[in-house]
Amino acid sequence: MSALKEIQPLYTVLIVDDEPGQLDSLKELMTLSGYEVSTASCGFDAIKMLEQQSYDSVLLDLNMPNGSGYEVIDHVANSKIDVKIIVISGNTDFESTRNALKKGAYDFLKKPYVPDELLATVKNATSTKQLEIANENIQKKLEKSEHLHRFIVDNSPDIVFILDKDGNFTFLNETVYQTLGFEKNELIGQHYSKLVSSPNKELAKYVFGERRKGHRKSHKVELKLTCKDGSEHRYFDTTSMSIGLGGAGISGGVYGVARDVTEKKQAQEVINHHAYHDTLTKLPNRVLMEDRLSLAMTQALRNGQRLAVMFLDLDRFKWVNDTLGHAMGDRLLQSVSHRLESCIRKGDTLARFGGDEFALILPNVNQEEDAEIIAQKILEAFKEPLRIEEHELYVTLSIGIALYPDSGDTIEALIASADLAMYSVKGRGKNGYEFFHPSMNEASNARLNTERELRKALTTDDIKVCYQPQVNAITEKLVGFEALIRWEHPTDGLIYPGDFIPIAEETGLILELGRYVLDRACGDVQKWRQEGMKNVRVSINFSGVQVEHDTFIEDVLSALHKHDLPGSVLEVEITENVIMNDMSSAIRKLRELATHDIKVAIDDFGTGYSSLSYLQQFPINTLKIDKSFVSSINESEEATSIVDAIVAMAKGLKLNLIAEGVETDPQLEYLKNLGCESIQGYLFGKAEGVERTTEILNCIEQGDLVRNLTAV
Ligand code: C2E
Ligand code: MG
Ligand code: MG
Repeated sequence: MSALKEIQPLYTVLIVDDEPGQLDSLKELMTLSGYEVSTASCGFDAIKMLEQQSYDSVLLDLNMPNGSGYEVIDHVANSKIDVKIIVISGNTDFESTRNALKKGAYDFLKKPYVPDELLATVKNATSTKQLEIANENIQKKLEKSEHLHRFIVDNSPDIVFILDKDGNFTFLNETVYQTLGFEKNELIGQHYSKLVSSPNKELAKYVFGERRKGHRKSHKVELKLTCKDGSEHRYFDTTSMSIGLGGAGISGGVYGVARDVTEKKQAQEVINHHAYHDTLTKLPNRVLMEDRLSLAMTQALRNGQRLAVMFLDLDRFKWVNDTLGHAMGDRLLQSVSHRLESCIRKGDTLARFGGDEFALILPNVNQEEDAEIIAQKILEAFKEPLRIEEHELYVTLSIGIALYPDSGDTIEALIASADLAMYSVKGRGKNGYEFFHPSMNEASNARLNTERELRKALTTDDIKVCYQPQVNAITEKLVGFEALIRWEHPTDGLIYPGDFIPIAEETGLILELGRYVLDRACGDVQKWRQEGMKNVRVSINFSGVQVEHDTFIEDVLSALHKHDLPGSVLEVEITENVIMNDMSSAIRKLRELATHDIKVAIDDFGTGYSSLSYLQQFPINTLKIDKSFVSSINESEEATSIVDAIVAMAKGLKLNLIAEGVETDPQLEYLKNLGCESIQGYLFGKAEGVERTTEILNCIEQGDLVRNLTAV
């Protein structure tokens, strides 16, 4: 029982009455009923006590000498003291009752009171007060929770919104201001379409419910929204959900969240751009080009049309890169891409394939002539030099063209065809265009085959080094040999260098081939020297690829060293083009050869970019007049005068002269009269293998003339 009492709340009551008997009996009644009772015998005391302590209820007499009940009621009302006042008074006229209740008393009982009625009233008052307190607590909690949710919603990085069933905003959080610049009030009541950028309006209809059946399903979509000033747009990942009946008090509306993904999207776009574009020229790269080609092919197929793919390669780009530097090379590629862009039409795709290769897709081409017009336009445009800083650069292009579906019906086949056609242009001397033709495939297969067989030949001794004599024009005595290679093919017979050197150069095999020739020739010379023929000198041909290679000097010197030969037995033959390709490195390498007493001859002189100025700068010993000029001696005046000029020039520069391809006595006479010192040609024999050459050398030792031994 006592335990029960303890856990029951003890309600407090203050009894105020000036009559001590009344006070006591009330006190007894209330105490017995389980209240904690305090008493006051006048109004003033009661006010004091109410100030100091809180009570659940007050039983109040009205008529008291020191401070009436009314004063207590007034004080409680004014001081907002939370207590229920029950008036117990002998004055039960209507006026005093009304007055007391009006001022804030909870109830009114008249004296003498009925105890049960009094207790019921007090109990009522107490529980009303408790209810009010509980209510207030709930209210406070609700406010707190409402605050919390507001806070969470308003501080969300996402826009949170609610639309009514017509699509008008009924709620928006603060984020809409930070991301789109709208004040909430500007949008509440407005239709959502006010925010959606035009290309997305249809999509938005679907997301925001106008286009879907009303079940509770969430939709996620990216939308482009317009900022307040109208000029800027931002991208949002938008998730929306229709609100069922009763949800948030709005039925048929939409609740949604929109996350600003503009920055992520921009970053993605940058990454995408890099993945599909060339950084230097900003043109589409190979990946994007192939993608567009595939699209264009599908379209052409559907419409029964054709299209063209062009492959464009800069001629001599390596030269610019090597002589003017990579920065200049980059600028040149940019200028080239601009000029190319000016030649193409809307809908064409220009791409950079890497290096100095560009590709062009021409979707609206139905016959060869259409592509031809563009190719000619491009070649014409490049007749004007490109101006980069103080340089005026002339650039030519080799263009290969393949038509779909004629030249290939897959991306790979089409590109390969255009590539082959481009190489065909290069092979014909560059600067021009050509359409793919199936014979190019055969040619390319034949090349692949040759490459494979050549590799093998280097290991099977089928490559032979032959020696063609060079004689003094006046005495006709031997002055040296030129080493020339031959391929003794097991099934095809003898193959001349013109048919395999270009392939060896393209594939890099020339490096191996070159080292092979050096080694053989040096070995043969050493052998002849050991047999007593000390004055044998040999000229060896070197391709540009060999000279430009880092190991050029090392290869030459180590061959001489291996066979224990002095540099003076060797003459290196290079063409003018080799020097022009990379002047500074060529000059350095040739000077180094000179320090080892190795001589340098310019082969096929007069056929390349003859430039007088380099002849003086370079440590060159000999000019070889090309056989095309020699063969025209006495036949054409122009060629004859070129020979005259070359001889005069060599004399002026104090260079040795040797004429190649001398076949007749009149040619020999003419050259001799001009003062050309050395002669090489069929008149004195063609190139012979090492055994035959050894025999010839032996006969010469015995005093025979070269002409009698070898003439063909
Ligand atoms: P080249 O250095 O100008 O060699 C001279 C070419 O003229 C040789 O052709 C030679 O056989 C030919 N010839 C010589 N005298 C006469 C003549 O009186 N009349 C005619 N019509 N032709 C004559 P070949 O041997 O076919 O060599 C062709 C080219 O191949 C050479 O031209 C040279 O550039 C290159 N070559 C030959 N051997 C090598 C080599 O070992 N390495 C490199 N890199 N190139 C080589
Ligand atoms: Mg030569
Ligand atoms: Mg030559």
